[in-house]
Amino acid sequence: MKRESVPLLDFLKETDGSILILTHENPDGDALGSALALYLFLKKKGKDVYVGCKDKVPHFLDFLPHVDEVISLPDGKFYDVGIIVDSAGFYRAGTEVNVGKRIRIDHHVGGEFYGRYDYIDPSAPATASLIYELIAKWDESAIDKEIATCIYAGLATDTGFFKYSNTNEYTFDLAKKLVHYGADPNYVYRMFSERESLGKMKLISKVLETLKLYEGGSVAGITIFDRFFKETGTQYSDSEGLVNYPRSLEGVEVAFAMIEKPEEGVWKVSLRSKVSADVSKIAERLGGGGHKYASGCKIKAQNYEEALDKLLTEIRKQLQIQGIGPYSASSEKIA
Ligand code: 5GP
Ligand code: MN
Repeated sequence: MKRESVPLLDFLKETDGSILILTHENPDGDALGSALALYLFLKKKGKDVYVGCKDKVPHFLDFLPHVDEVISLPDGKFYDVGIIVDSAGFYRAGTEVNVGKRIRIDHHVGGEFYGRYDYIDPSAPATASLIYELIAKWDESAIDKEIATCIYAGLATDTGFFKYSNTNEYTFDLAKKLVHYGADPNYVYRMFSERESLGKMKLISKVLETLKLYEGGSVAGITIFDRFFKETGTQYSDSEGLVNYPRSLEGVEVAFAMIEKPEEGVWKVSLRSKVSADVSKIAERLGGGGHKYASGCKIKAQNYEEALDKLLTEIRKQLQIQGIGPYSASSEKIA
């Protein structure tokens, strides 16, 4: 459900309490870009503001301005206000935080609501665009090169650098403004996409060996076993984006990546859709969430086979509900 920015704006203008801005665990460009942009802006406005995240800033985002100020959560402190960005709820922080008032700024469908100050718009291409709208309503002149870079990084990464279905006239209009305020598209792209390690390449090679097709080629998946990280000297954050390999195959409607997380005893699942499948429905049935084209969840299972089976069952159900691939009316190959 859509929630307007005005109540939040009025609240932020008034408050003189401490504010913690936080992101979901394993932050992506939109999560951290949004959090830092809002943090830098509120600091300029003289607010007592902090930015935090459970996980270490990943290498691919360490170029964002002021990342060294990101607090590692939990930090045992109390904040009057907690604002979680780009997350379906505070549970996505992956850690407990001690805050008085809870507020959510997000562009996911559904999720948790905390009250009238939530600012949620599922039609927004990125949470970063909501941060822009909030700032622009208050004081657009405060957007400097650093703030513009953070917002641009969120917008660019959540749109796959302006090629996913959330790329439209508005997206380009906003990108133009951000470039005007000092964001450098080539710099952000290079920092985000062209600083891979040799280990990451070796990880990709191992992961591609696991690529498999299901449902007559409508579904493709990869598996990232924990030992792959150890064998290649990489870490969990290096798995970001690998789900795009199975998605890139012709004929694939639903792509997934299963990532082993032994320390949590779960399989983290990334789901992607190309045209018509709504993967958020699959993720929701497995206790997660996200968007039609990009969603995620965690599956608890005794072993890999059981986790894969749970996932494939829900994917198949969704293909059947929507009549996609082998379940489409025009298809001859009924599975
Ligand atoms: P990714 O696959 O890149 O981790 O996430 C894709 C989308 O799904 C993001 O919008 C992310 O916030 C959401 N998502 C990923 N994992 C989870 C999860 O465990 N729970 C929920 N609610 N959303 C998730
Ligand atoms: Mn996002």
